[in-house]
Parts: sequence; C-alpha cells; structure tokens
Amino acid sequence: MNRRNFIKTGVLGALFAASPVSISALESATRTSTTPGKMQLSFRPYELQLRHAFNLARSQRTTTPGVQVQITLDGITGYGEASMPPYLGENVESVTTFLSKLDLAQFKDPFRLEDIHEYMESVAPNNRAAKASVDIALHDLTGKIMGQPWYKIWGLNPDRTPNTSFTISYDADPAEMQRKIEETSPYKVVKVKMGLDHDKEIVEALRRHTDVPICVDANQGWNDREKALEMCHWLAERNCMFVEQPMDKASIDDTAWLRERSPLPIIADEFLQRLPDVSRAAGAYDGINIKLMKSTGMHEAYQMATLARAMGMKVMLGCMTETSCAISAAAQLSPMVDWADLDGNLLIANDIFDGAKIVDGKVIIPDRPGIGAIPLA
Ligand code: MG
Repeated sequence: MNRRNFIKTGVLGALFAASPVSISALESATRTSTTPGKMQLSFRPYELQLRHAFNLARSQRTTTPGVQVQITLDGITGYGEASMPPYLGENVESVTTFLSKLDLAQFKDPFRLEDIHEYMESVAPNNRAAKASVDIALHDLTGKIMGQPWYKIWGLNPDRTPNTSFTISYDADPAEMQRKIEETSPYKVVKVKMGLDHDKEIVEALRRHTDVPICVDANQGWNDREKALEMCHWLAERNCMFVEQPMDKASIDDTAWLRERSPLPIIADEFLQRLPDVSRAAGAYDGINIKLMKSTGMHEAYQMATLARAMGMKVMLGCMTETSCAISAAAQLSPMVDWADLDGNLLIANDIFDGAKIVDGKVIIPDRPGIGAIPLA
C-alpha cells in the first residue's frame, strides 16, 4: 500500500506514521499541534489478529483489516475505528482514500452530526465502515465535550443492557472444537455459526457441555427453505432463541415463507445495512441485526433501533471483529436492544483500548464520557 494513503496530512499524520508511537503519546502531542477551533482528522491502518480462525459459511480468515481514527478539537480527542471484513467490500485502501477526501475543518461545531453525515454522503456513497469511524470519533469527541457517556445523553438505563452472546464456529479438529466450547463457559448465550456441513454436530457437542441458550447465525448458508425449516424446528427443541440470516439475502420470498412457519424468530443481518432497509425487512424478518460498520455509525444505528422497535420488530446489536473502541461505542446503544452480540473485542488478540466489559455474561458500559473507550498505553 502507498504510504501516502496511510495518513491525513499534518503533524499528527507524521506522528501516526512513525510507528511505534503509543496512542497516549499521540494524544498528548495532539494537544499542541492542532489549530484552535478546527477539527483535525487523523488515521492509521491497524490489522486485527483473530485469536482463532473464523470459519463461516462462505469464508475463512485469521485477520481483519482495520483503520484507527482520531478527531481532535481544542485539545480533546475522540477515537473511532473502521473494521472491514472482506465480504462488506471495504478495505484499508478504500477507507483511507475516503478519509483523505474529508475536510472536517470546515465544520466549526462537532455536534452538527446530521450536517457532517450529509457531507460524508456527498463525498462518496457506500464506504459505510469509513463513515462509521468518523461518526464514532465524533460521538466520542462530543460526549467528552459534554462530559457524559452517550447512553446517558440518549436517556438509556445502563442496568438494562442485555447479555452478550459469544461466538463459536465449527472446527474439524475435535480437540480444537472442545477447546472452543470450553471457552464459552463465562457467557450466558452462545452464538453458533452455521451454514456449513456440520451444523448439528456443533450444537450436539455444545449441548454435552452446557444448557445455556444459543442463537444461530447461518450467514445465508441454508439454500433450501424446507431444510431451513427443519433446522429451525430441530433448534427450537435445543433451547435456541432465534436464527440469524438463514438464507441468501436475495431470497426474500423464501425467507418470508420460512418466517411464517418457523417456531423461532428470523433475524436479518446481511439483508440489511442502513435505515431505509428496516422497513424493507418487515414481513420477511422478525427483527434486525444492527452493526455500526453497516449503519455508518452510532447516529443512524440509534435511528434504526428506534424505527425497528416502533414497527414491533426485535432488535439485535452486533459487531465485526473490532477493538474495544467500536465495541464500547456499540455498547452505548445496548440498553435499547433485545439481544447483543458484542464479542468482537474478545475475539481479537491485539486490542488497544480499554472499554465496555462483559461481566457474568452481561454488557457493562464504562461510566466515562463519550464512548467510554480509552487507549491502552
Ligand atoms: Mg450475522
């Protein structure tokens, strides 16, 4: 990759490029290098190392490309992040190219989230993770300016956060499969990745270890609606709460057919990205899985959750593999949702933030301003 694409121009850019400089060192440097009253955006690629290979219905991988973002205004820094699993169509180059085009210094007020989102849409369509990274950093910045975490600003009760699920996928090595299953022990819900050839084997192996509720994510892997229905009945007898994206996102009629007959709620994930997709999902799905990297960040995610609830749909809050930066941002919304799948930071080996925690299986939002994530030195 072209080194030029790593960084926005300016002193902070040079500091970001000069690895290894700790983020806290960058933050203190930032305080003396920014122009008063002007927002300054900087960013750098940061590859996430997965603790275990992800075996999904349609792919396998051991890393996720990411980009870390900072927006600084008058000595206060907001942190954001883009995570780009390959199937979403963004990568380090597309994200850094998009961020390089942005001129946030034109906005005198970081609270103008609507205006800034409108501006980002005018710069380029799509680029949802790139836009999310800016949105998260702006929420962190504005929350810090107000001295409040976003769950408070939204009026949410932090005691009402759900349990999070912890995700496992199939492994052909029985010892490795057993180790993955034992790793689920601290969690109150286990999310099982399905859509491969060993769907029932994973559940049977898990059930020899634990009775905790499971949820299932088929990642569009079930091609036949009759078989999908049979799986839903089989899973309903094994303490499964819902099934996420059972069939191809384009198979709306088959999904609606399945939903009418399934004993389990059917939740849309790959089918849906942003706010206008919520009403499209109604009828074929019982609920939606909101992820910040799909929704362009917290601003639209909040709107999606509000709309889905008003339409009587279930709301799930998911994530990509992310550091505790983006996970803490998502956690701010978690008191609004029925189910959370916020294990992205638990699945990586190189987290660089402290933030939202899982305690006894439940999401705990840090009582800190902004998104509540602080960089580890
Ligand atoms: Mg999913």
